Amino acid sequence: MIQAFAFNSNPGRVVFGQGTVASVGDEVRRANCSRAFVLSTGEQMAVAERVAQALGGMAAGHFGGAVMHTPVEVTERALAQARACNADCIVSIGGGSTTGLGKAIALRTDLPQIVVPTTYAGSEMTPILGETRDGIKTTQRSLKVLPETVIYDADLTLSLPAKLSVTSGINAIAHAVEALYARDGNPVVSLMAEESIAALARSLPLIVKNPADRNARSDALYGAWLAGTCLGLVGMALHHKLCHVLGGAFNLPHAERHTVVLPYALAFNAPAAPEAAARVAKALSVRDPATGLHDLAAGLGAPTSLRTIGMPADGIERACDLAVRDPYWNPRPFGRDDIRNLLQQAFAGEKPASR
Ligand code: NAD
Repeated sequence: MIQAFAFNSNPGRVVFGQGTVASVGDEVRRANCSRAFVLSTGEQMAVAERVAQALGGMAAGHFGGAVMHTPVEVTERALAQARACNADCIVSIGGGSTTGLGKAIALRTDLPQIVVPTTYAGSEMTPILGETRDGIKTTQRSLKVLPETVIYDADLTLSLPAKLSVTSGINAIAHAVEALYARDGNPVVSLMAEESIAALARSLPLIVKNPADRNARSDALYGAWLAGTCLGLVGMALHHKLCHVLGGAFNLPHAERHTVVLPYALAFNAPAAPEAAARVAKALSVRDPATGLHDLAAGLGAPTSLRTIGMPADGIERACDLAVRDPYWNPRPFGRDDIRNLLQQAFAGEKPASR
């Protein structure tokens, strides 16, 4: 029997393909805009320049200073430039850090956003914004920050190094896994989640073999789009909470911490979410989904322990304190001992086991 559910969808237009960034001018016009403010990181200035050229006379300015964690000081600098050049829309080209900056500007100005994602993080599909002020990160949900248009161009992901592609791809898988057991989940989101995991699990090994494989790049970006959509539509649980805690307390890198923690979070939750676990196993074509995720990461050379990504051994107790501080929903109730157990396994990089 289909369980009762409510289904919301987020408004927005998605253009998907290869070479699609060439349509950025058409998309700006379609949004009834003509003065685009282009955002990127310092590392992606060259690709942002190409976008600005494609925009021709519609490129009003470019800010190449997007950084991790969306610090408000950076947003304020970018905002001042956007105002000074009288921008009427934002074109963000890059990963979650650049998308985050565009969202922070949209929150303050209501300017429409056209996002061109170049990683698999998925922020472009969500109404969620995390910002950092004085070192403290706060997250909010608002439709004001949801991008109006997303242009997925698989060719722009060809330059994403294989190592980053793997961790970014598993970061996307994490959204899909938690969507499968979300409290507010529904059959449509579950379809997208399962398809997302399958697309990423089959494409990431091909990308590691040959980062220039355009078919695999397209498949992975398709999986990332689906995963981002899931993240934007339903609530996440223990895995995302733990990653948030580990990021805030120890500044562990974003995609890597998702990659390490996911098999352990799933091993813990699987007994309480057997249908979700079975769908992850099916998407991965394995018997045990948590071990399957661990093996996927290990086989692709990704980090599999918190130790190797910089967590201090004496940090486990602090992480436990933070993880149990604000109670939040998870399919399987947990206590401090459960979290310690999970983090000890993840710290050592053992085969995940549900205890
Ligand atoms: P990122 O945006 O920080 O990018 C990492 C690095 O890779 C940067 O130096 C970037 O310039 C470079 N890069 C990006 N694409 C490239 C490409 N195609 N070729 C070469 N280099 C490339 O990393 P990310 O993992 O995409 O984003 C992480 C951030 O996004 C975190 O701050 C996270 O909190 C946020 N995030 C937010 C949401 C949300 O819904 N609000 C969702 C997911 C992630």
